[in-house]
Amino acid sequence: MTQTRNSALALLSWYIDSGVDEAIATEPRNFFVTETPAAAPASAPQPTQPSQPPRPGLSVPLDLESPAAAQLSAQALAAAAGSLAELAEAMQSFEGCALKHTASNLVFGDGNPEARVMFVGEAPGADEDRQGKPFVGVSGQLLDRMIACIGLDRNSAYITNIISWRPPGNRKPTTAEVTTCLPFVQRHIELVAPRLLVLVGGTAVSALTGRSQGITRLRGRWLDYQPPGAAGTGSTADSPIAAMPIFHPAYLLRQPALKREAWRDLVAIRNRLEQ
Ligand code: URA
Repeated sequence: MTQTRNSALALLSWYIDSGVDEAIATEPRNFFVTETPAAAPASAPQPTQPSQPPRPGLSVPLDLESPAAAQLSAQALAAAAGSLAELAEAMQSFEGCALKHTASNLVFGDGNPEARVMFVGEAPGADEDRQGKPFVGVSGQLLDRMIACIGLDRNSAYITNIISWRPPGNRKPTTAEVTTCLPFVQRHIELVAPRLLVLVGGTAVSALTGRSQGITRLRGRWLDYQPPGAAGTGSTADSPIAAMPIFHPAYLLRQPALKREAWRDLVAIRNRLEQ
């Protein structure tokens, strides 16, 4: 009994050392073993492509839409959503982002949708995925302390992410994933209609402003977020929104000396809100 327990613990420890940080299927699968499709009866016509055997324990539909089709579908769903509740519902029905199938929850948004300031991060991590709320893990706790420094909290600010499903293993979202999901966050911003946007980390800056310089170059400078679609129509939805890039709290946890710069950026946000 003790021996079984010890070998289970040794195996678990080996998995952790190898970088395994979550279980995404109920059964283990050996990806080094190629599964051979069952032989067809001699008289049956041979299919040109052997059909893939179902992958045990993995419920990802493998016929995901092409990236272009997925983006069009995201645009149509987002445009049809007339409220945040409808947008969340539309995203729940969206099948164009594979991350949805490895995530436990849609992480839509948190805070006050009437707020004057909206924070946009990158993508949920493990804690956010479990709770279905953005920025609730360790870096979220730092973000809460940062926004508290300028007199804000989740009753006076609104928080969301560029991507609403957790990338497995907390990897950075790919360009294709960002492009596919962009119409949702754009509509999210349009529906909240904040006076100021705070772009938390480089992914939010590049996705929403198209700038390719790193966050170290861009932080602390007011940029314009130009809402898509309405440009040139003269409507208020057309107006750019002032956007401040700041260091991501996860980065500040690794580079605490940069908190001084982050503080300056937060003060700039507070001053602008007071104007
Ligand atoms: N990091 C993010 O960018 N967003 C979250 O919600 C959590 C961590």
